[in-house]
Amino acid sequence: MKGRKLLMIPGPIEFEPDVLHAMSIATTSHVAPNFIEVFGNSLELMRTVWKSPKGQPFIVAGTGTLAMDMAAANLIEQEDNVLVISSGYFGKRFNDILERYGANTTILEAPIGEVVSLETIEKELKSKQYKALTITHVDTSTGILVDPKPIAQLAKKYNTISILDGVCSVAGEVINQDEWELDIVLTASQKAIGVPPGLALLMASEKAMKVWKNRKTPVPNYYADWSNWLPIMKAYEERRPSYFGTPAVNLIVALETSLKIICKEGIDKRVKRHQDLAKAFRAAIASLNLEILPKSTALAANTLSAVYYPKDIDGALLSAKMIEADVIIAGGLLPEIKATYFRVGHMGSVSANDLMAVLGALERALIVLGHPLEPGKGLQVFQNKLLKDN
Ligand code: PMP
Repeated sequence: MKGRKLLMIPGPIEFEPDVLHAMSIATTSHVAPNFIEVFGNSLELMRTVWKSPKGQPFIVAGTGTLAMDMAAANLIEQEDNVLVISSGYFGKRFNDILERYGANTTILEAPIGEVVSLETIEKELKSKQYKALTITHVDTSTGILVDPKPIAQLAKKYNTISILDGVCSVAGEVINQDEWELDIVLTASQKAIGVPPGLALLMASEKAMKVWKNRKTPVPNYYADWSNWLPIMKAYEERRPSYFGTPAVNLIVALETSLKIICKEGIDKRVKRHQDLAKAFRAAIASLNLEILPKSTALAANTLSAVYYPKDIDGALLSAKMIEADVIIAGGLLPEIKATYFRVGHMGSVSANDLMAVLGALERALIVLGHPLEPGKGLQVFQNKLLKDN
C-alpha cells in the first residue's frame, strides 16, 4: 500500500490481518454461545502461551497498567513489605502502584543499562520478610531483559510471592511460569500478544490465589477485585454465561485469533524467531557504529532495541527522516536520558523484511544527516547473521 507506514515502536505493533479482521466482525452479545466459546478458548490458550497449565487466567478490559494494578490490589495489604527490582521506567511505575495500596516498598534500581545483581536481591530478601517482589521482564524504556528464573527461585527460598511484569515479554521471550514457579505473570494485548490495545491479561499461580483468598482486609479496588472477576473467568471456561462488567467482545475475538496464530507457530519457535531477529538486528546496529543502551548484548531484550543516537546527530531530525521513509520508531522514555536514544520494537509477527526496512531507512537517514557509513553495511551484516544462524 503506497504511503503506508511501518509501525516499529515497542507497542502497539503491526497486527496480523486476521486479527484485525476478527476485530471487525459484528459484535455479538457477551453471553451469546459463540462468544462464550471464544472467551473460554482464549483462557485455555493463555495457559499454553504462559506455560502455566495450573494457572488461573484473567482477561479484563484495560491496559497493562491495570494488570499491574490488579496484581497489587489483590495481593498486597497495608504495611506489606514489597521488593521492587527495577531496570527502568516501568519498575518505578510498579513501585508507585504498590505504594497506593499501602505497601512498604524497597526499590532496587539498576544503573542505566544494567540489571540488579542476584547477590543484591538475596541480601535484601534476607534483611526482612518480604510479602512479594516484582520483576520487569523487559523494561520497555531501556530494552533491558532480566532473567526471571533465578529471581523466582530466590523468592521461593524466602517465601515471597513473585510478580513478573511481562507486558513487553509474554509471547516474545522465554517464559515457563509453572516450572519457574512465578506467582503472577501479567501482560497487555498490544505487544507480543499481537492484539490492539485494550486488554489486561494476567495469570495467577495456585499460591497467589491462596494468598488472595487468605487476605485479612477487602481488596480496596472495586474494578480490579478478583472476587468480581474469578467467577466470570470460571464461568466462561465452563462455557456458561455470566456477567460482571461487559467484556471487550471484539478485542477478545481478536485475542482468540492471535493466540491461535501464536500456538500454531509454536511458542518455542516464536521465541526463537524473536531471538534470531533481535541478534541480527543488534549486529547490524553495531556495524553502523551505533551503541545500544544495555551494557552488554546478554542484557538486551529480544522484543525491542534501545539505541543511542550518534553524538553528532539530532534525534528529532533522525526520527523525522525515518517517518519520511515510512518507518515509525519510538523516542526515548527514561526521563534522565530521554533525548539521547531511540527504540525499535521487534515483536509479534515481526519479520526479517520489517527489520530490513528499518535498517534501510536508518542507514539513509544517518547518511543524509552526516553520520559516516557505507550504505548497505548494516543490511549486509543483518543478512549474513541471519544466514549464519539459520
Ligand atoms: N510494563 C511494561 C514493561 C510496559 O512496556 C508497559 C507499556 N509500555 C506497561 C507496563 C504499561 O502498559 P500499558 O501502557 O498497556 O498500561
